[in-house]
Amino acid sequence: MPARSGNQYLQTLRENSAEVWLEGERVPDVTSHPGLRRGAQSVASLYDLQLDPSVPDEMTYTSPTSGDPVGMSFIVPSALEDLENRRKMMTQWARTSGGMLGRTPDYLNVILMACAEASSFFGGNSPEFSQNAIDYYQHARENDLALTHTLINVRRTRSALGTTGTDEDVALHITEQRDDGIVVKGARVLATLGPLSDEIMVFPSTVLQTTEDAWRYAFAFCIPCNTPGLKFVCRESFDIGRSTFDHPLGSRFEEMDSIVVFDDVFVPWERVYLSGDIELCNTVFAATGSETHMMHQVITKNVVKSEFLLGVAGLMVESLGSGGIPQVQERVAELILDMGVMKACLRASEADARIDQWGVMSPDRDHLDVARNLFPRMYPRMTELIQLLGSSSLMMLPTEADFQSPIESEVNDILSTEDFTGLQRVKIFRLAWDIAASSFGSRQALYERFFFGDPTRRAISLYNSYDRQPVMDRVKEFLELG
Ligand SMILES: Cc1cc2nc3c(=O)[nH]c(=O)nc-3n(C[C@H](O)[C@H](O)[C@H](O)COP(=O)(O)OP(=O)(O)OC[C@H]3O[C@@H](n4cnc5c(N)ncnc54)[C@H](O)[C@@H]3O)c2cc1C
Repeated sequence: MPARSGNQYLQTLRENSAEVWLEGERVPDVTSHPGLRRGAQSVASLYDLQLDPSVPDEMTYTSPTSGDPVGMSFIVPSALEDLENRRKMMTQWARTSGGMLGRTPDYLNVILMACAEASSFFGGNSPEFSQNAIDYYQHARENDLALTHTLINVRRTRSALGTTGTDEDVALHITEQRDDGIVVKGARVLATLGPLSDEIMVFPSTVLQTTEDAWRYAFAFCIPCNTPGLKFVCRESFDIGRSTFDHPLGSRFEEMDSIVVFDDVFVPWERVYLSGDIELCNTVFAATGSETHMMHQVITKNVVKSEFLLGVAGLMVESLGSGGIPQVQERVAELILDMGVMKACLRASEADARIDQWGVMSPDRDHLDVARNLFPRMYPRMTELIQLLGSSSLMMLPTEADFQSPIESEVNDILSTEDFTGLQRVKIFRLAWDIAASSFGSRQALYERFFFGDPTRRAISLYNSYDRQPVMDRVKEFLELG
């Protein structure tokens, strides 16, 4: 099947309805539920964009198996131009939401590609897993699937002495190995886009220890979201039915986070990529190169998001006429620096791209690692800068209804500034509020802090993996330490 349209995506969600729970009710149809519907439509619009001939960048390429046009995010990059084309396509998708949709399907498509190209890695666990990785990538590409994923087990304690994350009844574990597959039980977090996805990728958390029964927790598989026994338990929706004027972001980009409960879920062997091999589970993301490609997608999104916040800040300053104030200039300058760092890292990662051990043209990991370690700190500060620039204007926010009421001209007049009508100003500041002060905005900051894993533990991993010896040697030489 060629790249899908938005309607085809929505229709598949309806036909393959998964078990989704939201505020105590089972959702019969996510595409019509008030808290999920408009998020689904935003994802659908991405699929439409793939087929839109007016988009200047190539959104599809020719499938090597079917000859159909398929989504560009599935491409196996063999030259720098492929990486650039993929980044342009991902930029187009990210711009539709100002980077507020973290889980556009390209996020996981690039992982599937990398896993398929590194298929022999999975073969190291069991020969047939190698073919499984290839088959699944092709299945996702040819059906243009939207995937969610979950890496982390629900844990009952975070004791510093540590649970392995695997020694508890609530963690997802294998209860039965059968001739035709495995049966799993437990709960995972936090499947963003879960209720709006076709399939779920369940990959290992990378903290498995070599305890006797750790094999039960060591696996990777992908299954349809409507597999019997699987349920998605949502948080409350941040799309509370308001207009796009009132909630410019929450009304459009609710991608929903969910706990995933597996109640004796059967996974056929052909959908399993790893099982029981702790070492391979702990190294899968780095060894297959999938993490690097995922970072390429994430930093592309971060560039778009930083540009969006800078654009919003620029309009806030312009509408308030505050551009001559030094503190205001300093704050906007900080946003320019943040955006510049993201852009520079992305560009550098492509400039230093090289063919990896699997034969895939891969962006340079170190540059992307810098960006992904910085952004969780940058983004909350960026939203703070929006708050500092906006102050009470972030609360002087009459709703759309006020602009359609008898007090319309009064409100419009009171809130007008030198160059902007009251209505224009409120539109800008409602957007700024949805970035920096609403529940939607708070969730964005939390997302950027944590979605790529705990930043502290990521920093520890960078400390342990980064080769500091060459610079230490240079300093030793300088000091003649011998
Ligand atoms: C909005 C959002 C969306 C997400 N989407 C997804 C998704 O789609 N798929 C997915 O798999 N995951 C997703 N995640 C989950 C993400 O992977 C985790 O949040 C992340 O790995 C951190 O784990 P945790 O939340 O359990 O934090 P915790 O482990 O509970 O950590 C909380 C805090 O305590 C500290 N801490 C806890 N234990 C220790 C310890 N032993 N030593 C030192 N410090 C410790 C941490 O540094 C951290 O600051 C999402 C998270 C968020 C917030």
